[in-house]
Amino acid sequence: EDSYDEECDYLFKAVLIGDSAVGKSNLLSRFSRDEFRLDSKPTIGVDFAYRNVRVGDKTIKAQIWDTAGQERFRAITSSYYRGALGALLIYDITRRKTFQNINKWLSELRDFSSSETVVVLVGNKSDLRHSREVEEEEGKTLAELEGLYFLETSALENQNVEEAFLSMIGRIHEVLI
Ligand code: GDP
Ligand code: MG
Repeated sequence: EDSYDEECDYLFKAVLIGDSAVGKSNLLSRFSRDEFRLDSKPTIGVDFAYRNVRVGDKTIKAQIWDTAGQERFRAITSSYYRGALGALLIYDITRRKTFQNINKWLSELRDFSSSETVVVLVGNKSDLRHSREVEEEEGKTLAELEGLYFLETSALENQNVEEAFLSMIGRIHEVLI
């Protein structure tokens, strides 16, 4: 939260959703602080992080919400989604079940957020090539079907993490301003 006090032109809320242990918290720590943790530690207490992003001549403060472990119990409430202009919908390419559950997360997201919410589908852990259970093509196909953006990322290797967040933020900016 270094940039908390910097001047900004817009404040955008975005949310991270997806099954437990897909890498939501590490994608956020990579994007906001360039940090990664190998040990799996459920998020406790920290609900969001900020990062300022320049788009054209404007500064956007992106406020990104992370679950505090409620996704384990499918107990994310409407207040989590309220006012979200963007969402990263994340699965783990090494666990097919997390990809199958994307449809559930997407319908929950659509129930609780506006139809204008920008959604990016993210297949995380692309570094684990040998344990892959979901092909990149499958992610791409689902995204096309549902009208979502799509990227594979690695929070560990810092691959496509910036791109995932920045494509969402840039698109929100285009839609709203
Ligand atoms: P969350 O429950 O969705 O917030 O997932 P976490 O961010 O806590 O990550 C769960 C586990 O996956 C942790 O052990 C992380 O170190 C690991 N992890 C997260 N992202 C990656 C990644 O891109 N590659 C690899 N190999 N492991 C990852
Ligand atoms: Mg977490």
